[in-house]
Amino acid sequence: MSLPISRRHLLAAGTAVGLAAGLAAPRPAQAAAPMLGTLPPAWHRFKWGAFEATVISDGHLPLGKPADSFVGPGAGDIPAMLTGEFLDPSAATLEQNILVLNTGRQLLLFDTGMGESMGAQSRMFGPTTGRMLANLRAAGIDPAQIDMVVATHAHCDHVWGLVDERGGRVFPNAQVAINEADVKFWTDDANKRGPEFMPVFIDGAKKNLDAYRDRLVMVRDGQEVVPGVTAIFTPGHTVGHTCYAVASEGRTLVNTGDLAHHQVLLLRQPLMEFAYDTDPKRSAQTRARMLDRLATDRHAVLSYHFPWPGLGHVRKQGEGYAWVPAPMNVTSLG
Ligand SMILES: [Zn+2]
Repeated sequence: MSLPISRRHLLAAGTAVGLAAGLAAPRPAQAAAPMLGTLPPAWHRFKWGAFEATVISDGHLPLGKPADSFVGPGAGDIPAMLTGEFLDPSAATLEQNILVLNTGRQLLLFDTGMGESMGAQSRMFGPTTGRMLANLRAAGIDPAQIDMVVATHAHCDHVWGLVDERGGRVFPNAQVAINEADVKFWTDDANKRGPEFMPVFIDGAKKNLDAYRDRLVMVRDGQEVVPGVTAIFTPGHTVGHTCYAVASEGRTLVNTGDLAHHQVLLLRQPLMEFAYDTDPKRSAQTRARMLDRLATDRHAVLSYHFPWPGLGHVRKQGEGYAWVPAPMNVTSLG
C-alpha cells in the first residue's frame, strides 16, 4: 500500500520526534492553532410538561447608548444600575430568544428574528442578527415543519424573518397567529409618521405579513391559540402586543415577548419607558401589572430580549423586580 505523501511525511516526523523525545527536550508546538472567530450554533432544549421546547437565538441586537433607548422615570439611574450589575454603561445589547414548541400535535415558532427580507435594512442593528434559520436547522428543525408562527407583535426583530428577500414564505406550511390590531397598525401607510423608524418598520411588516394574508389567525385576549397555548393581551409596546402562556401538566411558562427589554433597567424600574414603544405610558402600566402577576404566580418566563436563553423567573425586590435566570442544567423549570 502506498501512503499519500503527507501521511508518509507525518509518520517519518513522528519517528524522529519519538527518538528525540527519548533524549531530551519537550516537543515544541508545530504551529499556533488559528483563531476560529466563528460562533457555535445557539439552541437550548428542555421539556415542559408533555411538551418539548427549544430556544433558538437570532443573535445579538446591539441598541447602542442606553440613554437613547431607555427614557423617562428612573432613567437618571441607568449608568449606576448597569455598572452595579457589571454591564457596560455605554452600550446596551439585547438577545433575541425564539421559542420553538412541539406540543406533540403541532410545531410552533414564537417570533422569527430580524431575518433578511429587507436587505440592508435587516442589518439596521448591525451584522449580528438574522441567525434564526441557521440555528433552527442546527437544532434539527426544518422550517417546512413549522405549523404556526405565533407573533408577539409586528416589529422588525419579531416578524421580518417570515419571508426571504424576494418575498417568498420561509415557512411554507405555517399559519401566522398575531393580534389583529398589530396587523392593522403596522400595515397602514397612514402610520408612517412620528419616529424616523416608522416608515421602514411599516414597509417591513407589510412585506412579511402580506405573504401570509390567506393564513393569518387573528388572536384575541384569552384565546387558546392551540391546546396549551393561551394569548394574554399586553398592549403598549405595540397596540396589539401579546404574551403567550404555555401550560402543560399543571405548569406554566409565559413567553413575554417585549414586555420588558432589559433584565435590569425595566425590572428595577418598570415605569421607565422604551423609545420603540408605540404608547410608552401604557406599555409601562402593562409591564408593571404583568410583572406583579408573574412574580405572584411564580410562573416561569421566557423573555425574548433577556440574556440567552432568556429562561427564568421574576421576583419582587424593593420597589421593582429582579430577574432570576434558570440554571442551564435543568431539563424542566418551574
Ligand atoms: Zn423586540
